[in-house]
This record gives sequence, structure tokens and C-alpha cells, in this order.
Amino acid sequence: MLGSVLLSASRSPRLRQAVTSVPATRTLVERFVAGEQRADAVRTASALVARGLRVTVDHLGEDTTDLATAAAVRTAYLDALASFADAGIAKDVEVSVKLSAVGQALAKDGEAVSLDNARAICEAAEAVGTTVTFDMEDHTTVDRTLAVVHALRADFGWVGCVLQTMLRRTEADCRDLSGVGSRVRLVKGAYKEPESVAFQAKADVDRSYVRCLETLMAGQGYPMVASHDPRLVAIAATLAERHGRGRDDYEFQMLYGVRPDEQRRLADDGYRVRVYLPYGTDWYGYFMRRLAERPANVAFLLRALASRG
Ligand SMILES: Cc1cc2nc3c(=O)[nH]c(=O)nc-3n(C[C@H](O)[C@H](O)[C@H](O)COP(=O)(O)OP(=O)(O)OC[C@H]3O[C@@H](n4cnc5c(N)ncnc54)[C@H](O)[C@@H]3O)c2cc1C
Repeated sequence: MLGSVLLSASRSPRLRQAVTSVPATRTLVERFVAGEQRADAVRTASALVARGLRVTVDHLGEDTTDLATAAAVRTAYLDALASFADAGIAKDVEVSVKLSAVGQALAKDGEAVSLDNARAICEAAEAVGTTVTFDMEDHTTVDRTLAVVHALRADFGWVGCVLQTMLRRTEADCRDLSGVGSRVRLVKGAYKEPESVAFQAKADVDRSYVRCLETLMAGQGYPMVASHDPRLVAIAATLAERHGRGRDDYEFQMLYGVRPDEQRRLADDGYRVRVYLPYGTDWYGYFMRRLAERPANVAFLLRALASRG
């Protein structure tokens, strides 16, 4: 219930203003976000790589409504990729991109603009020897996002995408995307979705996760198991072994600031672990989704809001 209120709040401009103007919120935001500048992302990513982790960097922002902002986001990614190369970490640091940030949501030519910007980011990633994974947003965007991924994979076979197990369609999408070279990041899903398209009970989302994992692990692609759920992490390792996968044939992924000890434990045990690391000024939507996943985090935020004086 609280989670669902927070997800609605994540799209409210009035609440955005209230939450982002409170200085004390920053301390909580810093737990989940590297910082506002590219240099913050490079510094934090370098530290994670030095600890044996891989990284996927997200330039924060979504639901872009004008061409200039979409172009600025694309430039931000090109600059970030160049900085990772300069810092000597590009091999271990890829980028995650939301298509709505690079123009998918534009009223005019959204599809073409986002594909064009996404292609430029893929070219830059390939030039420095890394990859791109496209995030998945709410269910209304799934077909359009998969169409872009499909188009890009014709030129960049390594392009990855996210599938959300809360959506009823995802088992079928996993079957379609389990072929050679396919990189799929499997998540539970962070958006508020109607019952017509999504499982509502946590147990159903978890069961769907296991069925999807089965398909991906049995397939010929590269599964990216993105969850902090200890039960699902253990099931993924067992399924991988059962399907004859070595520890280089799949990876675990977790969010920056969530279960960092577990991230290190898995890496120390010889598993591939990638940390999703966001940076930038537009952190409100991302931050509210993190609060919604763990309402215990909200107590800190409420205390911060109450003390704004
Ligand atoms: C690498 C990565 C990329 C993602 N990309 C997308 C995407 O493109 N689209 C999308 O819809 N969703 C995305 N997500 C979010 C995902 O859908 C879930 O909302 C999120 O991962 C929480 O689900 P969980 O599998 O960790 O399980 P849960 O059952 O939610 O959590 C399991 C345990 O993990 C811990 N935990 C989980 N979340 C938090 C938190 N915010 N703060 C503190 N502790 C926490 C708690 O201990 C909790 O008990 C991504 C997640 C990851 C890890």
C-alpha cells in the first residue's frame, strides 16, 4: 500500500518540488546515487572496479519532453563513455539507458529520435569496448523498447535489455530473447502496473521470476540476474549449474547502495557481479522507486521532511 502511494508520488511534480528542496533528503539520496557530476560517477565506478565488481552507469533522467533535452542526455552518455575510457575502466563499466530519456516519449517522432540517440550511444560504447543495456519502463513502453532493441541488435549484437517478471507477458518475451548472444537483465519490475497486465502479489512475481530464469538459463544467451532477493540469487546459481553454465556465463546485478555486503560476498566467491550506478541531478523518480521497494527507507525521508524547519 505505502509502496503504491510512493510510486504514484514518483510522478507528481508537486511532491518532486517538496522532496528535492529539502537538504536533509540529500543524505538518503547519496546512498543510492554516485553524485550529480560525471566525475562522481567515474570516481565511484573506479572504486567499485578496484573491488572486483563490474558496473553499469545510468545517467539519471526520464520522460524527456523536448528534443534539446534528449540530445543533452545523449551527449552526457557519450562524454561518460569517453571518461570511462580515459580512466581505464571501460572494459568493466557499461551504461544503462532509459529510452524515455533520449526521446521515446516525445509527441513528434519519438521512436525515430530515441532510436537515433540510442544508436549514437551504442556506437560510442562499441568504440571504447563496452556494452549498453536498455532499461524497461512502464508496460506501455515495452513493445516500443523491444522494437528498438531488436533494430539495434542487427548492428550491435551485444545490446542488452531488461525484462520485468511482474508483467504477465514476460515469460513469452524471455523465450523470444533466449537465443545466441542475447543479453537479458531480469528484474521484478519497479512500476505501478494494473492487474490486467501484471501480477499483483509478491509471491506471483517471484514465481514468475523463477520460470523466466529457467528459460534464460536453459537458453543460449547471457542472463543478467538483477535482484537482491537472497532466495532468487540462490535459485539462479543452482539453475545455472544445472544447465552447465560456468560462472562467466551469467552475472548477478544489484543496485548501488542496496546489499553492498552481498555484492562483495558474491564477487569474493567468484561470481560476476555488476552494480547499477546512477548519477546526475534528476534523481527524484529513481529515488522514489527505491523508497517504494523498501518502505523502511521512508522513515528516514519523513524525519528529514519534518525537520525542514
Ligand atoms: C541492476 C538492476 C537494474 C534494474 N533495472 C530496472 C528496470 O530497468 N526496470 C524496472 O522496472 N526495474 C528495474 N530494477 C528494479 C527491480 O525491478 C526491483 O524493483 C528491485 O530490484 C527490487 O526487487 P528485488 O528483486 O531486489 O526484490 P525485493 O523482494 O524487492 O527485495 C529483496 C530484498 O532486497 C533488499 N532491497 C530491495 N530493494 C531495496 C531498496 N530499494 N532499499 C533497500 N533494500 C532493498 C531488501 O532486503 C529486500 O528484502 C532494477 C534492479 C536492478 C538490481
